[in-house]
Amino acid sequence: MKICDLKKCTGCGACRASCPRKCITMGESDNTGTIRPMINEADCVECGLCQRACHVLCNVSSSRPLKCYAARSADELLKNKGASGGIASLMYKYMVNRNIFSMGTYFDSYSCVGYKEVCSEEDIEWARDSKYVYSDMINVFEAYKEKLVDGMECVFIGLPCQVAALKRYLEFQKVNQSRIIFVDIVCHGTPNFKHLREHLNYIERKKRKIVDEVHFRQPKSNYSFSCYSAGKKIWSRTMHGNDTYFRGFSLGLFFRENCYSCSYANTNRVSDITLGDYSGLGTVEKFVGDKSQMSLVLCNTERGIEWFNKLCNEGMVEYYLRPIEEAINAPGNPQLRVPSSKPIQKEMFDGLYLRTCDFEKSARRAMRNLFIKYYFYLPIEGLKYVIKRIVPNRMKRVIRELGE
Ligand SMILES: Cc1cc2nc3c(=O)[nH]c(=O)nc-3n(C[C@H](O)[C@H](O)[C@H](O)COP(=O)(O)OP(=O)(O)OC[C@H]3O[C@@H](n4cnc5c(N)ncnc54)[C@H](O)[C@@H]3O)c2cc1C
Repeated sequence: MKICDLKKCTGCGACRASCPRKCITMGESDNTGTIRPMINEADCVECGLCQRACHVLCNVSSSRPLKCYAARSADELLKNKGASGGIASLMYKYMVNRNIFSMGTYFDSYSCVGYKEVCSEEDIEWARDSKYVYSDMINVFEAYKEKLVDGMECVFIGLPCQVAALKRYLEFQKVNQSRIIFVDIVCHGTPNFKHLREHLNYIERKKRKIVDEVHFRQPKSNYSFSCYSAGKKIWSRTMHGNDTYFRGFSLGLFFRENCYSCSYANTNRVSDITLGDYSGLGTVEKFVGDKSQMSLVLCNTERGIEWFNKLCNEGMVEYYLRPIEEAINAPGNPQLRVPSSKPIQKEMFDGLYLRTCDFEKSARRAMRNLFIKYYFYLPIEGLKYVIKRIVPNRMKRVIRELGE
């Protein structure tokens, strides 16, 4: 029995949650660390329910953004602790104070990134912050189904493929979705947790300390990847610094295979609200003021607009209405148009990793070539971007007309 094309499987686990015979488990079917469903063929009766619950095989509704905002949390503390403008944190704050059910991701440095219910303001501490790695949403399906059946208001914040997975699962289970708001976060791609764990092992060996806390992006530390041991920072590297995992993540070297053909890295969004970094602020329409830590908020449905307005009316958000094209065409946020492209070195990385089981060595080797290309093109792209911003629009029009 085959559920979906394994290269497209996002590892959501909706198939497992919907199997009446409980004969599907989620695990690593090869040595790459990719989590996928595994079927116990002896117990499987080929009822096909797993396929009907699968978002890869079914069409999940999506819509073009209706409104676009540059926004950040009005609360300094929430803003400074989020990966971007702290919008997710203030959503959690709004929800816990109104008894709205939501779940957030926690980071267990040994086993996984998983989902737990956010019950109190203290819980926002672990739920916020982008964890740049695959997250396990296995317990999400039943939890949301139960709360919605009980008539509770719910909000789900997750990666676009996870939103699609939950939407499809609820549809398949014939659960009324009028009480749930879906929020997706723009996604570059997700590496396997195994690779991150091996990278942490490397840092632990190098520093001779146990890593018990990881932050992938801290605005206050120049958006660095930082590791802590007993409350003390032992490792901190920026995106372009010397960190194999963080660099490889930004270059898309070791994402899950499905990320390179992601159908949700698109201008049509599967959620009511999309959150991301606001890239290109002021490029289409002048923006006066402080641009730092500005998040992108795309309201994709009328319900999304209504929900975001509620947060704004509470005075929780500093927000600016912006042209939609400014955000969706921003060169700095391609995942609003296309999936991350697969570097040719990915094959080299996979081959080396399967042979050596050594993440550091495989990633470093594969990145060697990629870097020459990267550092050659980066300044050129940067220069193009600066020229685009300083040349007045009228002059750009004249140049374009001359070119035609
Ligand atoms: C893997 C990944 C890739 C991303 N790629 C991009 C990108 O290319 N462009 C862009 O503009 N933004 C990207 N983001 C989103 C960005 O980093 C911020 O999360 C977003 O701008 C919201 O910021 P915030 O300050 O409001 O919330 P944050 O404090 O960052 O909270 C983020 C929310 O996302 C959830 N979350 C965190 N990690 C995961 C995870 N691994 N799986 C599921 N949910 C998670 C948290 O539970 C929380 O609800 C990515 C995020 C992730 C997790």
